Amino acid sequence: MPDPSQQIPYTIRVSHRAKHARLKLSPHEGLIVVIPQRFDKKRVPELVESRREWITKVQGTFEQRRLEGVSDTGKALPSRIELNGIGEAWSVSYRAEDRTGVLLREVSEGELLLAGLVHDEALCRRVLESWLKRRAGRKLVPQLERLATIHGFTYSSVSVRKQRSRWGSCSSKGRISLNLKLLFLPPLLVRYIMVHELCHTLHMNHSSRYWGEVARFDPDYAANDREMTHAWRFVPGWLAAE
Ligand SMILES: [Zn+2]
Repeated sequence: MPDPSQQIPYTIRVSHRAKHARLKLSPHEGLIVVIPQRFDKKRVPELVESRREWITKVQGTFEQRRLEGVSDTGKALPSRIELNGIGEAWSVSYRAEDRTGVLLREVSEGELLLAGLVHDEALCRRVLESWLKRRAGRKLVPQLERLATIHGFTYSSVSVRKQRSRWGSCSSKGRISLNLKLLFLPPLLVRYIMVHELCHTLHMNHSSRYWGEVARFDPDYAANDREMTHAWRFVPGWLAAE
C-alpha cells in the first residue's frame, strides 16, 4: 500500500528545450522531473504530489514486471526482440512519461525505446507491431523484389500484414502479402515462403506443376514445407498473444 505521508524521491533535470515541466519514470532511473530553465524549483514538490496517483500506479507496474521476470518466451512485453529472418536483434526499454500515447524511438542500431504510457501493455504491443510492420517493409519487401527480379517473376503489389494463420498469400491478381511474423523465422524458411508465393503468380494452386516450379528455385522445398508446420514456435509469445 502506498503511504501518502511518504515523500516520493525524485531527481530534477533542467532542460533548455523543455517548455513545460514533465515527469519521467523508469525502472532504472526512478522519477525524473524535467523543468524549463525559468521554472521555480520550489514548485516541484507540489507538482510531484499532484501526480502521486500516476507515479504509484506506474511504479507498481514496474515492480510487477520485475517479479514476473520480463521473459521473451512468455506473454509479457519483450526486453529483447530477435528478428532472425533479417539477422537483427533489438533491445527494448520502457520509460513512463507524462504524455499521451506511446512513442517508439530507434535510439541506435539495435536499441528501441518506448516512452509514454508504457504501463498500457496493449498500447505498447500495438506500437511494437506497427514497428515490426515497418521493419518488414524495409527488409522483407526488398528481399522479395530481389528474388522476383533474379528469377523473372512479376507481381502487381506486395504488402505486409499481421496474419494469424497464414505466412503469406498471393491473389489471382498477383497481389502478394507477407506476414510480419516471417521476421522471426530462420532465413531459409523466409526464402521458402517467398518462393512459394512467387510461384503462385504462375499457378494458382498446389498442383504437381506448381511444385515442379517451386523445386526449381528451392530444391529443399519439401523439407522446408514440412518445417513450416511447426514454424509458429518461432513467433514470440508477446506477439502471438491476442
Ligand atoms: Zn500455396
